Amino acid sequence: TPHTAQDILAHLGAENVKFLRLQFTDILGTTKNVEVPGSQFEKALAGDVTFDGSAVEGFTRVEESDMLLRPDLSTFLIYPQFSREEGERGRVARLICDVTLPDGTPFEGDPRQVLERQVARARDLGFEMFVGTEPEFFLFERDETGRGSTVTHDKAGYFDLAPVDKGERIRREIAGILVQMGFEIEASHHEVAPGQHEIDFRYAPALETADRIATFKFVVKRVALEYGLLASFLPKPLPGVNGSGMHCHLSLFRNGVNAFADPEGEHGLSSTARHFIAGLLEHAGGMAAITNPLVNSYKRLVPGYEAPVNVAWSTSNRSALIRIPAKRGQSTRAEVRMPDPSCNPYLALAAMLAAGLDGIQEGMEPPPAIGRNIFRMTVREKRHHRIRELPTDLREAVDELEKDPVIAGALGEHVLDHFVAAKRAEWREYSSAVHAWELERYLDLV
Ligand code: GLU
Ligand code: MG
Ligand code: MG
Repeated sequence: TPHTAQDILAHLGAENVKFLRLQFTDILGTTKNVEVPGSQFEKALAGDVTFDGSAVEGFTRVEESDMLLRPDLSTFLIYPQFSREEGERGRVARLICDVTLPDGTPFEGDPRQVLERQVARARDLGFEMFVGTEPEFFLFERDETGRGSTVTHDKAGYFDLAPVDKGERIRREIAGILVQMGFEIEASHHEVAPGQHEIDFRYAPALETADRIATFKFVVKRVALEYGLLASFLPKPLPGVNGSGMHCHLSLFRNGVNAFADPEGEHGLSSTARHFIAGLLEHAGGMAAITNPLVNSYKRLVPGYEAPVNVAWSTSNRSALIRIPAKRGQSTRAEVRMPDPSCNPYLALAAMLAAGLDGIQEGMEPPPAIGRNIFRMTVREKRHHRIRELPTDLREAVDELEKDPVIAGALGEHVLDHFVAAKRAEWREYSSAVHAWELERYLDLV
């Protein structure tokens, strides 16, 4: 793969690429693109393309509306062809960008740079964080007009006739395309709920993984569209069945060696691992609004669906917020089960890293690991084990975020203010809506 601007320029020519997409992510986690034609490639690679930041929701103050896109050249790739018609128009490449002010200083509302700040903080302490994720999603039918529904693709009767499940074919196609784009796919399988799937890709340094999550979501949605389906990362689209999580496996490395492993330590874990876990538990409430940012996210975090409700850790049980998978040595890691795939991946990884590093810097100790299913414990048992609960709705989560100086500080004032304002507005809108449940429950009753 080409690495300098000159290499990339030559490569774009040789591969007959007609358009270059400059990609970034807004505060709420939506991926944005500015697309430039061949005549602008040189300018784009030099980081000289401006865009109007005030047009991006929650992104900028009016007085700073001109923004520059500075590409991270290591993120260069040429998109595979998603359809024939796209192939005829000419190939498309992309670069993921940092957003700067016209004078080149980093723009404080850019989520990617929020993560870069925490990565730098870890580096100063001698650590690099690696992250592997397990994003889950649903595939739903679209009607004749293309509108999405919540009818799952693999429950519809007439598919019984098909020899191969449609979901399986799409999953394989998605995996194949991701491999072409440089992903190393580790597993791909149907999940517990009807129409629910999971595709796992190999762990990588935090920033690379955040970039990959953004790319992954785009590819999944794009391929599903090609099959006439809707791919949704909504955490709890269907009541009564599992929701979609995005478990994050976190590990710290120091000089290429896993810093969580210690064969002598309790559970085979080092003091660094214990402090990091303690920090995650301490800040779980403050992180929730970031890792679980929708009104809907909190409908997933209920007992009985393999999603966490309680702030606890375990070396075995999947009811806990943090599980330590059995592998040790270089694979030693903490699986954080709280995040869902609707989160902004840059902010979510930044929040988790900030929480864990705080645990290390403050030398925090976690309570003892819980070996049992927490869903079966009584209130008294939970109190005895010092087990708190995660926020139960978005409003509570936003309150906790504002009260947590470590997570709020990691976001920085600009991102925090815009995020909180957007989430409070979302909550107000939800609270004043009349839901189907209320009519069903009350209409006849009173
Ligand atoms: N879908 C579950 C969740 O909401 C996770 C299932 C699993 O363990 O993979 O987190
Ligand atoms: Mg899963
Ligand atoms: Mg998992």
